[in-house]
Amino acid sequence: MSELSRSERARYARHLVLPEVGPEGQQRLRAGRVLVVGAGGLGSPAALYLAAAGVGRIGIADGDQVELSNLQRQILHTDADVGRSKTASARAALQARNPLVEVEELGRLDAATVADAVERFDVVVDGSDNFTARYLLNDACVRAGRPYVFGAVHRFQGQVAVFGLAGGPCYRCLHPEPPPPGLVASCAEAGVLGVLPGVIGSLQAAEALKLLLGLGEPLSGRMLIFDALAAGFDEIALARDPRCPACGDAPRPEARVVPLEACAPPPPLSVHELRRRLAGDSPPALVDVRTPGEHALGHLPGSRSIPLDELEARLEELRAGGALVVYCQSGVRSARAAALLRSAGLASVSDLAGGYLAWQAAGPAATP
Ligand SMILES: [Zn+2]
Repeated sequence: MSELSRSERARYARHLVLPEVGPEGQQRLRAGRVLVVGAGGLGSPAALYLAAAGVGRIGIADGDQVELSNLQRQILHTDADVGRSKTASARAALQARNPLVEVEELGRLDAATVADAVERFDVVVDGSDNFTARYLLNDACVRAGRPYVFGAVHRFQGQVAVFGLAGGPCYRCLHPEPPPPGLVASCAEAGVLGVLPGVIGSLQAAEALKLLLGLGEPLSGRMLIFDALAAGFDEIALARDPRCPACGDAPRPEARVVPLEACAPPPPLSVHELRRRLAGDSPPALVDVRTPGEHALGHLPGSRSIPLDELEARLEELRAGGALVVYCQSGVRSARAAALLRSAGLASVSDLAGGYLAWQAAGPAATP
């Protein structure tokens, strides 16, 4: 690797004084290649910080044009960019930020192009907002052995995790199959606080930089959930599933389904958010989808027990009521339960991130 130039030494001075980075780390960043998928709310801060930090090659994949309604959060683009392709707008913004980095424009990735794109980069940062991209990227990253830095935002909450590292889970370990088409709310209908993707996209950039530098503890085997209203972070543990169709002990490519274009479902509720809703005017009904034995050992106050394997048969009991929150022990079974209930047409269903364990960990204040 060639020495840093005089202007690089000046530009990256605050990196160079960090003993953990130094000139060697800066050279690693310069040799690093990060693919940012989506030049939107998450991709904007992620790509801007990666460029500013001196990541040598940044790929930007997006097929859309800049719209006026994007500007509330997509800080790569300005008023003058409305109508322009997002990748062209992003490229100009990143090169204005740091002319030393190379920016490659890629169109919308699909099943035919994703593998080649992922292989040409060291780390993939997912700033997309739909299931199609999420499953395509996850599977391509697993196959190519690339870390997949996941991020998602909804209303006032966001999530970050790193998938696909050795020993850690992939996205399909959590959600083996996409939900049936048509059940998820339109992305356009769900709002998001403008700054929220700024927080989550910046965390994704931090994870990508750590991976390139080989520093710290990556966010693997756990998911960070940020709640802007409560101003708090929750962390939930995630485990690799040996039966996962993508990264399991016996991967089954034929079992990998990539959904048609569909928006992501709302992320699980944090304990803070559930607490707030329970204290509100129309609190949701709580359903414990664990086994009766687990329920008997302790449960959320006022919750009723309907084990996951009975849920389908007992749908009618739930149809009449209003908003529902399902929970389990750690959040895995309840995610399946929520998908099942939404696919059965129940309008307002949420699941609790981290389940009963997270509720207990939040302490006595969590009891309404
Ligand atoms: Zn997996």
